[in-house]
Amino acid sequence: MDVIDVIRTKRDGGRLSDEQIRWFIDSYTNDRIAEEQASALLMAIVWRGMEPDELNVWTDAMLSSGERLDLSSIGLPTVDKHSTGGVGDKVSLILVPMVAACGVAEPMLSGRGLGHTGGTLDKLEAIPGWRADLSTEEILRLLGEVGCVICAAGGTLAPADKKLYALRDVTGTVESIPLIASSIMSKKIAEGTDALVLDVKVGSGAFLPDIALGRELAETMVTIGTAHGVKTTALLTDMEAPLGRAAGNGLEVTESVECLSGGGPPDLLEVTIALAQEMLSLAGIDADPAATLGDGRALTKYREMIRAQGGDPEAEMAQAPERQVVLAPASGYLRRLDARAVGIAAWRLGAGRSRKEDPVSASAGVLCLSKPGDYVDEGQPLLELHADEPSHFDGATAALEGAVDIGPEAPDPRPLVLERIG
Ligand code: URA
Repeated sequence: MDVIDVIRTKRDGGRLSDEQIRWFIDSYTNDRIAEEQASALLMAIVWRGMEPDELNVWTDAMLSSGERLDLSSIGLPTVDKHSTGGVGDKVSLILVPMVAACGVAEPMLSGRGLGHTGGTLDKLEAIPGWRADLSTEEILRLLGEVGCVICAAGGTLAPADKKLYALRDVTGTVESIPLIASSIMSKKIAEGTDALVLDVKVGSGAFLPDIALGRELAETMVTIGTAHGVKTTALLTDMEAPLGRAAGNGLEVTESVECLSGGGPPDLLEVTIALAQEMLSLAGIDADPAATLGDGRALTKYREMIRAQGGDPEAEMAQAPERQVVLAPASGYLRRLDARAVGIAAWRLGAGRSRKEDPVSASAGVLCLSKPGDYVDEGQPLLELHADEPSHFDGATAALEGAVDIGPEAPDPRPLVLERIG
């Protein structure tokens, strides 16, 4: 096999043969293909795309580069959820204990945040003592004992993605539907779950803001999951405004616990409950997930899950020493609060990272004191910025310029769950 032939085939718009795909993924993962040649192929895929069956083989080859967990010993249906990432998206912290309290096992192998969207592991690491790195044996034991686990995906699952993603990150080849879909799905299928619900975010704070692209990504991932024997559906959900009121690691843990205790913001609850219903329906379980928030079952399960991973679920979150408010520039209805701007502000305040190895602050972030649809008076605090260092405020306030529209008319209510695919 000649790598230049593989590159030329895709460059000229051809379909890669199954042998070419399997050979390329295996050789690249095992350091037998030069980075510049792999980059050329990735760029050709960005431009030329992939046929559905070609992409299935590509994903399968990525999956076969590592181990696939066998969760059959758990004896419960297993269902996972994956979000393409948003601002204030702390859904997993609430959803995982909710569905586990309804009788499914939830093996969520998750990631850290990069850029303006937060990562679930960063949020949970704001809890003193909580540990993200678990061995496969620990994952299986906790799934049996607690019924749910949220932890880091170890290097043995889809190692091809680790290398390919790092290369895509530095070669301008992240934004490609087949490459994103195969990256996400190879990891999720490797996790061994029976079923998977995808939360594909669309709107300003999403990775792919455009609904047509979000739909195409969702359809592509559903096709890949189904072809690999994983019952897969997707919800397209709105990410024009931050989800809930908090964006930032410890602030989001506190808001999640409010929801688990029967309170919390209605938009966050609506999206979480819709995803939970979808997960239980795929698992064939007839239960009302919302009831677990009112009667304490989800909170009890959350505490069990956090304790099982070394954390103290009742510890107070660290408080940022520095605060600054952003005031409403006029009186009227808040018509728009831009999710991406709030995400960038939270990131610049210290909640996110620019490079994989950077630390994140547990306490920095943004609290949205008003949400779209609220009436505000000129000079009223709209946002509260939290930081460890006062020097972080300038970058955050610059990010928020133009993020807010206030007008005399209330905005039309926006549906949060836009479409179901699958
Ligand atoms: N998340 C992933 O895991 N992979 C991508 O390519 C994009 C987002």
